[in-house]
Amino acid sequence: MKKVISIHRQRAGHWVGDGFPVHTVFHYQEQPELSPFLLLDHAGPHHFAPSSRQRGVDWHPHRGFETVTVVYDGEVDHRDTAGHGGRIGAGDVQWMTAGAGLLHKEFHSPQFTRSGGRFEVLQLWVNLPRVAKMTPPRYQPLLVRDIPAAVLPERSGKVRVIAGEFAGIAGPARTFSPINLLDVRLVAGKRLALDLKAGYTAALYVLQGDVVVNGDDLARASELVVLDRSGAEVTLEARADATVMVMNGQPIDEPIAGYGPFVMNTRQEIQQAFADLQQGRLGVVPEETKEVVTV
Ligand code: MN
Repeated sequence: MKKVISIHRQRAGHWVGDGFPVHTVFHYQEQPELSPFLLLDHAGPHHFAPSSRQRGVDWHPHRGFETVTVVYDGEVDHRDTAGHGGRIGAGDVQWMTAGAGLLHKEFHSPQFTRSGGRFEVLQLWVNLPRVAKMTPPRYQPLLVRDIPAAVLPERSGKVRVIAGEFAGIAGPARTFSPINLLDVRLVAGKRLALDLKAGYTAALYVLQGDVVVNGDDLARASELVVLDRSGAEVTLEARADATVMVMNGQPIDEPIAGYGPFVMNTRQEIQQAFADLQQGRLGVVPEETKEVVTV
Protein backbone atom coordinates (compact mmCIF):
# COMPACT_ATOMS: atom_id res chain seq x y z
CA MET A 1 0.00 0.00 0.00
CA LYS A 2 1.13 3.57 -0.73
CA LYS A 3 1.07 5.28 2.68
CA VAL A 4 -0.14 8.83 3.18
CA ILE A 5 2.93 11.03 3.88
CA SER A 6 1.15 14.32 4.43
CA ILE A 7 -2.03 16.29 3.75
CA HIS A 8 -1.71 19.96 2.79
CA ARG A 9 -4.42 22.53 3.38
CA GLN A 10 -5.20 25.35 0.96
CA ARG A 11 -2.93 28.39 1.05
CA ALA A 12 -3.61 32.08 0.41
CA GLY A 13 -4.67 32.93 -3.11
CA HIS A 14 -3.49 35.37 -5.76
CA TRP A 15 -4.59 36.47 -9.22
CA VAL A 16 -2.83 35.42 -12.42
CA GLY A 17 -3.60 38.31 -14.73
CA ASP A 18 -7.19 39.41 -14.12
CA GLY A 19 -8.80 36.15 -15.22
CA PHE A 20 -7.45 33.46 -12.91
CA PRO A 21 -8.03 33.67 -9.14
CA VAL A 22 -5.66 30.86 -8.11
CA HIS A 23 -4.44 28.98 -5.08
CA THR A 24 -1.06 27.38 -5.62
CA VAL A 25 -1.54 23.84 -4.33
CA PHE A 26 2.15 22.91 -4.56
CA HIS A 27 5.38 24.33 -5.97
CA TYR A 28 8.64 22.54 -6.78
CA GLN A 29 10.71 24.95 -4.70
CA GLU A 30 8.91 23.72 -1.57
CA GLN A 31 8.03 20.17 -2.61
CA PRO A 32 10.66 18.88 -5.05
CA GLU A 33 9.66 15.35 -4.02
CA LEU A 34 6.59 15.66 -6.28
CA SER A 35 8.76 15.33 -9.43
CA PRO A 36 7.93 15.13 -12.34
CA PHE A 37 5.11 17.45 -11.23
CA LEU A 38 6.37 21.00 -10.67
CA LEU A 39 3.38 23.09 -9.75
CA LEU A 40 -0.39 22.92 -9.42
CA ASP A 41 -2.59 26.01 -9.53
CA HIS A 42 -6.31 25.78 -8.77
CA ALA A 43 -8.25 28.66 -10.33
CA GLY A 44 -11.66 29.20 -8.77
CA PRO A 45 -14.26 28.06 -8.24
CA HIS A 46 -15.19 31.67 -8.85
CA HIS A 47 -18.30 33.32 -10.22
CA PHE A 48 -17.60 35.92 -12.90
CA ALA A 49 -20.25 38.51 -13.69
CA PRO A 50 -21.07 39.13 -17.37
CA SER A 51 -18.57 41.58 -18.87
CA SER A 52 -17.67 43.27 -22.13
CA ARG A 53 -13.95 43.15 -21.35
CA GLN A 54 -12.10 39.86 -21.84
CA ARG A 55 -10.24 38.74 -18.71
CA GLY A 56 -7.10 36.64 -18.68
CA VAL A 57 -3.34 36.74 -18.70
CA ASP A 58 -1.49 38.48 -21.51
CA TRP A 59 1.58 37.36 -23.48
CA HIS A 60 4.23 35.69 -21.30
CA PRO A 61 6.99 33.14 -21.96
CA HIS A 62 7.68 29.55 -20.86
CA ARG A 63 10.64 27.22 -21.40
CA GLY A 64 11.69 23.79 -20.17
CA PHE A 65 8.42 22.14 -19.11
CA GLU A 66 4.76 21.51 -20.00
CA THR A 67 1.55 23.20 -18.86
CA VAL A 68 -1.54 21.02 -18.56
CA THR A 69 -4.78 22.98 -18.26
CA VAL A 70 -7.91 21.11 -17.16
CA VAL A 71 -11.22 22.98 -17.41
CA TYR A 72 -14.07 22.06 -15.03
CA ASP A 73 -16.22 25.13 -15.67
CA GLY A 74 -15.88 28.11 -17.99
CA GLU A 75 -14.04 28.49 -21.29
CA VAL A 76 -10.41 29.41 -21.96
CA ASP A 77 -8.92 30.64 -25.23
CA HIS A 78 -5.25 30.13 -25.90
CA ARG A 79 -2.82 31.46 -28.47
CA ASP A 80 0.95 31.07 -28.73
CA THR A 81 3.83 32.32 -30.84
CA ALA A 82 4.49 28.79 -32.16
CA GLY A 83 1.29 29.20 -34.18
CA HIS A 84 -1.04 27.16 -31.98
CA GLY A 85 -4.37 28.30 -30.62
CA GLY A 86 -7.65 26.92 -29.44
CA ARG A 87 -10.54 26.96 -27.07
CA ILE A 88 -11.16 24.54 -24.19
CA GLY A 89 -14.32 24.21 -22.14
CA ALA A 90 -15.71 21.96 -19.41
CA GLY A 91 -14.09 18.51 -19.57
CA ASP A 92 -11.41 19.56 -22.05
CA VAL A 93 -7.67 19.51 -21.42
CA GLN A 94 -4.87 21.40 -23.11
CA TRP A 95 -1.45 19.75 -22.87
CA MET A 96 1.10 22.34 -23.99
CA THR A 97 4.78 21.53 -24.30
CA ALA A 98 6.71 24.78 -23.95
CA GLY A 99 9.99 22.94 -24.58
CA ALA A 100 12.55 25.27 -26.19
CA GLY A 101 10.19 28.14 -25.59
CA LEU A 102 7.25 30.21 -26.67
CA LEU A 103 5.12 33.10 -25.59
CA HIS A 104 1.43 32.58 -25.03
CA LYS A 105 -1.68 34.25 -23.70
CA GLU A 106 -4.67 32.70 -21.94
CA PHE A 107 -8.05 34.45 -21.82
CA HIS A 108 -11.68 33.72 -21.04
CA SER A 109 -13.51 33.02 -24.31
CA PRO A 110 -15.60 35.90 -25.68
CA GLN A 111 -18.79 33.91 -25.05
CA PHE A 112 -17.91 33.15 -21.40
CA THR A 113 -16.91 36.81 -20.96
CA ARG A 114 -20.37 37.90 -22.14
CA SER A 115 -22.37 35.27 -20.25
CA GLY A 116 -20.27 35.10 -17.08
CA GLY A 117 -20.75 32.15 -14.75
CA ARG A 118 -18.90 29.57 -12.74
CA PHE A 119 -15.21 29.25 -13.51
CA GLU A 120 -12.89 26.48 -12.32
CA VAL A 121 -9.62 25.38 -13.92
CA LEU A 122 -6.56 23.41 -12.83
CA GLN A 123 -3.14 24.10 -14.31
CA LEU A 124 -0.45 21.49 -13.70
CA TRP A 125 3.18 22.06 -14.66
CA VAL A 126 5.01 18.89 -15.70
CA ASN A 127 8.79 18.86 -15.90
CA LEU A 128 10.65 17.73 -19.00
CA PRO A 129 13.68 15.46 -18.73
CA ARG A 130 16.94 17.23 -19.61
CA VAL A 131 17.05 15.60 -23.06
CA ALA A 132 13.64 17.08 -23.95
CA LYS A 133 13.85 20.56 -22.42
CA MET A 134 14.70 22.14 -25.77
CA THR A 135 12.21 20.09 -27.81
CA PRO A 136 10.09 22.11 -30.26
CA PRO A 137 6.87 23.48 -28.71
CA ARG A 138 3.86 21.19 -29.06
CA TYR A 139 0.16 21.66 -28.42
CA GLN A 140 -2.25 18.81 -27.69
CA PRO A 141 -5.90 19.79 -27.42
CA LEU A 142 -7.55 16.84 -25.62
CA LEU A 143 -11.25 17.47 -25.95
CA VAL A 144 -13.84 15.80 -23.77
CA ARG A 145 -14.70 13.34 -26.56
CA ASP A 146 -11.01 12.35 -26.86
CA ILE A 147 -10.64 11.43 -23.18
CA PRO A 148 -11.88 7.89 -22.44
CA ALA A 149 -13.55 7.08 -19.14
CA ALA A 150 -13.74 3.88 -17.13
CA VAL A 151 -17.26 3.66 -15.72
CA LEU A 152 -17.00 2.22 -12.21
CA PRO A 153 -19.25 -0.68 -11.14
CA GLU A 154 -22.34 -0.16 -8.96
CA ARG A 155 -22.80 3.41 -10.15
CA SER A 156 -19.75 4.42 -8.15
CA GLY A 157 -18.60 7.06 -10.59
CA LYS A 158 -15.97 7.21 -13.32
CA VAL A 159 -12.29 7.64 -13.98
CA ARG A 160 -11.32 9.77 -16.99
CA VAL A 161 -7.88 8.83 -18.26
CA ILE A 162 -6.07 11.97 -19.46
CA ALA A 163 -2.61 10.39 -19.61
CA GLY A 164 -1.23 6.94 -18.97
CA GLU A 165 -3.51 4.08 -18.06
CA PHE A 166 -6.30 2.95 -15.75
CA ALA A 167 -8.02 -0.47 -15.82
CA GLY A 168 -6.63 -1.19 -19.29
CA ILE A 169 -7.84 2.12 -20.71
CA ALA A 170 -5.14 4.35 -22.21
CA GLY A 171 -5.27 8.14 -22.10
CA PRO A 172 -4.64 10.27 -25.22
CA ALA A 173 -1.84 12.57 -23.95
CA ARG A 174 1.61 11.99 -25.36
CA THR A 175 4.17 12.57 -22.60
CA PHE A 176 7.98 12.71 -22.35
CA SER A 177 8.15 10.62 -19.17
CA PRO A 178 5.73 7.99 -17.83
CA ILE A 179 2.70 9.71 -16.27
CA ASN A 180 -0.77 8.64 -15.20
CA LEU A 181 -3.15 11.58 -14.89
CA LEU A 182 -6.67 10.61 -13.82
CA ASP A 183 -9.79 12.72 -13.32
CA VAL A 184 -11.76 10.72 -10.72
CA ARG A 185 -15.45 11.27 -9.91
CA LEU A 186 -16.55 9.15 -6.94
CA VAL A 187 -20.11 9.01 -5.63
CA ALA A 188 -20.74 9.47 -1.89
CA GLY A 189 -20.40 6.19 0.00
CA LYS A 190 -18.52 4.45 -2.84
CA ARG A 191 -15.00 3.08 -2.86
CA LEU A 192 -12.26 2.97 -5.48
CA ALA A 193 -9.00 1.02 -5.43
CA LEU A 194 -6.20 2.58 -7.47
CA ASP A 195 -3.08 0.73 -8.54
CA LEU A 196 -0.47 3.50 -8.63
CA LYS A 197 2.96 2.33 -9.62
CA ALA A 198 5.52 1.50 -6.92
CA GLY A 199 8.49 3.87 -7.19
CA TYR A 200 6.38 6.57 -8.81
CA THR A 201 5.42 9.87 -7.23
CA ALA A 202 1.74 9.89 -6.28
CA ALA A 203 -0.44 12.74 -5.10
CA LEU A 204 -4.19 13.34 -4.95
CA TYR A 205 -5.83 16.74 -5.16
CA VAL A 206 -9.42 16.91 -3.91
CA LEU A 207 -11.40 19.54 -5.82
CA GLN A 208 -14.73 18.66 -4.30
CA GLY A 209 -16.12 16.38 -1.61
CA ASP A 210 -14.58 14.47 1.29
CA VAL A 211 -12.42 11.42 0.67
CA VAL A 212 -11.05 8.86 3.12
CA VAL A 213 -7.66 7.62 1.89
CA ASN A 214 -6.53 4.09 2.76
CA GLY A 215 -9.38 3.79 5.25
CA ASP A 216 -7.72 6.21 7.60
CA ASP A 217 -6.94 9.75 6.50
CA LEU A 218 -9.68 12.23 5.64
CA ALA A 219 -8.95 14.70 2.83
CA ARG A 220 -11.37 17.52 2.17
CA ALA A 221 -11.93 19.89 -0.75
CA SER A 222 -8.83 21.94 -1.68
CA GLU A 223 -6.50 19.52 0.11
CA LEU A 224 -3.48 17.76 -1.39
CA VAL A 225 -2.59 14.24 -0.29
CA VAL A 226 1.05 13.24 -0.84
CA LEU A 227 1.61 9.48 -0.91
CA ASP A 228 4.71 7.39 -0.43
CA ARG A 229 6.64 6.41 -3.56
CA SER A 230 6.88 2.82 -2.36
CA GLY A 231 3.81 0.62 -2.44
CA ALA A 232 1.15 0.75 -5.14
CA GLU A 233 -2.40 0.33 -3.91
CA VAL A 234 -4.40 3.32 -2.70
CA THR A 235 -8.05 3.20 -1.72
CA LEU A 236 -10.45 6.13 -1.84
CA GLU A 237 -13.82 6.23 -0.16
CA ALA A 238 -16.04 9.22 -0.80
CA ARG A 239 -17.95 10.65 2.18
CA ALA A 240 -19.50 13.22 -0.16
CA ASP A 241 -19.58 13.23 -3.98
CA ALA A 242 -15.93 13.77 -4.83
CA THR A 243 -13.82 15.10 -7.69
CA VAL A 244 -10.17 14.12 -7.35
CA MET A 245 -7.17 14.68 -9.65
CA VAL A 246 -4.74 11.77 -9.39
CA MET A 247 -1.14 12.62 -10.31
CA ASN A 248 1.20 9.65 -10.66
CA GLY A 249 4.51 9.71 -12.48
CA GLN A 250 8.07 8.50 -12.67
CA PRO A 251 10.31 11.00 -10.87
CA ILE A 252 12.84 12.88 -13.01
CA ASP A 253 16.00 12.63 -10.95
CA GLU A 254 17.85 15.65 -12.35
CA PRO A 255 18.83 19.04 -10.88
CA ILE A 256 16.29 21.85 -11.17
CA ALA A 257 17.04 25.54 -11.67
CA GLY A 258 13.87 27.56 -12.04
CA TYR A 259 12.91 31.19 -12.19
CA GLY A 260 9.36 32.40 -12.90
CA PRO A 261 8.26 31.03 -16.26
CA PHE A 262 11.43 29.00 -16.89
CA VAL A 263 12.38 25.61 -15.40
CA MET A 264 15.77 24.29 -16.49
CA ASN A 265 18.63 22.26 -14.97
CA THR A 266 21.24 24.97 -14.36
CA ARG A 267 21.37 28.69 -13.49
CA GLN A 268 23.30 29.30 -16.69
CA GLU A 269 20.38 27.89 -18.69
CA ILE A 270 18.00 30.27 -16.87
CA GLN A 271 20.22 33.24 -17.80
CA GLN A 272 20.26 31.97 -21.38
CA ALA A 273 16.43 31.77 -21.34
CA PHE A 274 16.19 35.45 -20.33
CA ALA A 275 18.73 36.42 -23.01
CA ASP A 276 16.81 34.42 -25.62
CA LEU A 277 13.53 36.04 -24.51
CA GLN A 278 15.01 39.53 -24.90
CA GLN A 279 16.36 38.70 -28.33
CA GLY A 280 13.04 37.31 -29.55
CA ARG A 281 14.23 33.72 -29.79
CA LEU A 282 11.26 32.44 -27.78
CA GLY A 283 8.91 33.98 -30.29
CA VAL A 284 7.61 37.36 -31.29
CA VAL A 285 4.25 38.72 -30.17
CA PRO A 286 1.95 39.31 -33.16
CA GLU A 287 1.42 42.93 -34.24
CA GLU A 288 -2.07 43.25 -32.73
CA THR A 289 -0.72 43.29 -29.12
CA LYS A 290 2.70 44.31 -27.94
CA GLU A 291 2.53 44.08 -24.18
CA VAL A 292 4.65 41.31 -22.59
CA VAL A 293 4.37 40.54 -18.91
CA THR A 294 6.34 37.93 -16.99
CA VAL A 295 4.33 35.84 -14.60
MN1 MN B 1 1.30 30.40 -19.09
